[in-house]
Amino acid sequence: MAATPLSRRMLLFGRNATADSPLRPPWAIDADLFAARCTRCDACVRACPEQVLLRDADGLPRFDPARGECTFCGDCVQACGSGALQATVSPPWELRAQVQDSCLPAHGVVCASCREVCPESAIRVPPGGRGAAMVDAERCSGCGACVGICPAQAITLAHLPLEVPA
Ligand code: SF4
Ligand code: SF4
Ligand code: SF4
Repeated sequence: MAATPLSRRMLLFGRNATADSPLRPPWAIDADLFAARCTRCDACVRACPEQVLLRDADGLPRFDPARGECTFCGDCVQACGSGALQATVSPPWELRAQVQDSCLPAHGVVCASCREVCPESAIRVPPGGRGAAMVDAERCSGCGACVGICPAQAITLAHLPLEVPA
């Protein structure tokens, strides 16, 4: 099912989007084709140096950002011999971070752990616990570095095609 495009403003404020289909490895082709082509061989899971891929209940590989960050090293796509992952897919995925209401600064608690680890400098946090963290969807690569580090489990990744208003 295709995700509904959201405006950049909506993405910046982390609202109006829900977790949807499983997070597949980067460079996964169309979801239905991926499920048809993937032989469930676990080659990508074994190849990932960050150990952020795991075998899902249905045998398909899944990206778990709670385990760490995808560095886009490409080892998974190189290991895949079935055509389920293809280096020609661009961008590697359309995942972006979303901040939930449990973000600590939204409740007066100072925290900026997510901002400190973000390799794309995509996160802003109002100083002094005066508001929730905000993700710039144009910068966010969906790497997941911010997910596991958050003490409030306030960040999720979702498939969100970027739609920037003219
Ligand atoms: S690109 Fe690298 S770090 Fe990311 S899932 Fe593939 S093997 Fe793991
Ligand atoms: S790490 Fe979590 S609680 Fe802290 S600012 Fe980021 S989203 Fe909010
Ligand atoms: S998913 Fe990665 S790039 Fe996006 S905000 Fe989190 S740490 Fe930054």
